[in-house]
Amino acid sequence: MKRNFLVFLIVLSVIFSMGLATTYVVGTSADFPPFEYVQNGKYVGFDMDLINAIAKTEGFNVQIRDMAFDSLIPALKAGVIDIAIAGMTITKERQKVVDFSNPYWFADQDVIVGKNSKYTVTVLFGNHKIGVQTGTTGDLWVTNNLVKAGILKETGVKRYQSFIYALQALLNGAIDAVVLDSPVAERFAQVKPVKVVAILITGESYGIAVRKGNTALLNKLNDGLKKVKSSGKMSKLIDKYFGK
Ligand code: GLN
Repeated sequence: MKRNFLVFLIVLSVIFSMGLATTYVVGTSADFPPFEYVQNGKYVGFDMDLINAIAKTEGFNVQIRDMAFDSLIPALKAGVIDIAIAGMTITKERQKVVDFSNPYWFADQDVIVGKNSKYTVTVLFGNHKIGVQTGTTGDLWVTNNLVKAGILKETGVKRYQSFIYALQALLNGAIDAVVLDSPVAERFAQVKPVKVVAILITGESYGIAVRKGNTALLNKLNDGLKKVKSSGKMSKLIDKYFGK
């Protein structure tokens, strides 16, 4: 009897706290392991755990919405989502339209090719096909440094909505290489028949994005980020997703 009452109290308090807390819609692009990916039908990864940990310390609920990476900023602007967390690089261009939290991760760009391929970094030059995800910093790097420089033809850039498709194209030989963020390239090299043949030092920082001027939410994210770090939770997440 006493036990039933206790269960009743717990259920009541959960319902109560859920009712009071705000729910923010969090946009992501779940093709980016170990930051966000789908496992057993669930959105998992470093970013997913991080936003949940921040939500817990700051007392809000989250609801995840998966979409193409290049839809995230338009979705923020349109109010379809409140937060975007997707290994998103803080860039000057993006800062004109959204606000970013303090950085929580650092990355460069890697060039990956098939595991048994003879390609080296020179795959970037000449008559090759390079895959990127539309609107990413990898896309920007290839466009600015190869296409605009006349090193690679515009038709040599193959843009995909998702890295899943870019990887499939690489594995079935439709393209010769993919340019993507270094931590994700390294993860793919561990779990798929691909290898890293070059690192392009771009010095990127990842931030969590909110609608421009949504300072109240931005402050919560920065405060949560600070607390997740100082409580040791951040180190646990790093071990969980990047530990050997
Ligand atoms: N960091 C890269 C960018 O911001 C790629 C992010 C992604 O594909 N999820 O453009």
